[in-house]
Amino acid sequence: MFDDLVVDKENWKDIIGKAFTDYREGSISEYVFYDTIFEMSHFAFDKAREIQVLIDANDSLFITVGSPSFVSFDGQEDVLYESAVKIKFPLKCWIHTHPFGKAYFSSTDVKTARIWRHRMKEAVVIGNYEYFKAKFEDDPAMDSFYMVHRVEDYTLVYQGE
Ligand SMILES: [Zn+2]
Repeated sequence: MFDDLVVDKENWKDIIGKAFTDYREGSISEYVFYDTIFEMSHFAFDKAREIQVLIDANDSLFITVGSPSFVSFDGQEDVLYESAVKIKFPLKCWIHTHPFGKAYFSSTDVKTARIWRHRMKEAVVIGNYEYFKAKFEDDPAMDSFYMVHRVEDYTLVYQGE
């Protein structure tokens, strides 16, 4: 589907995977993990692109680029259904970036979250210098979308070299 997709950083998924491992092991913070995803969104491709990361119940990552469409996975369904690792619900987290936007749940994001809220525990949107997290576990009605962290002095960790 993304015929025009040019990958400058071939190991971009590995970089995100490494950051997730480091985060799980406690050597980097949750914020740095998100920052790494945001940086790949800006530096891994010919232009800034949206990245989506699903963390499943077994802490396996399912990563796609180009569209935040959780439901269709927009031509990258193989990531979900044909990979060696089968996705296990409920998801621990649905993460996606807004490379040029703020961290907020768009109307499409909210619609997606409402469809999937019983099959995932959290959703995170990473935007410009901030991220926004929603927890669904204790709030199936989704009344408590809230900003848990806003990075005011954001500096890029990974400079795209
Ligand atoms: Zn979004």
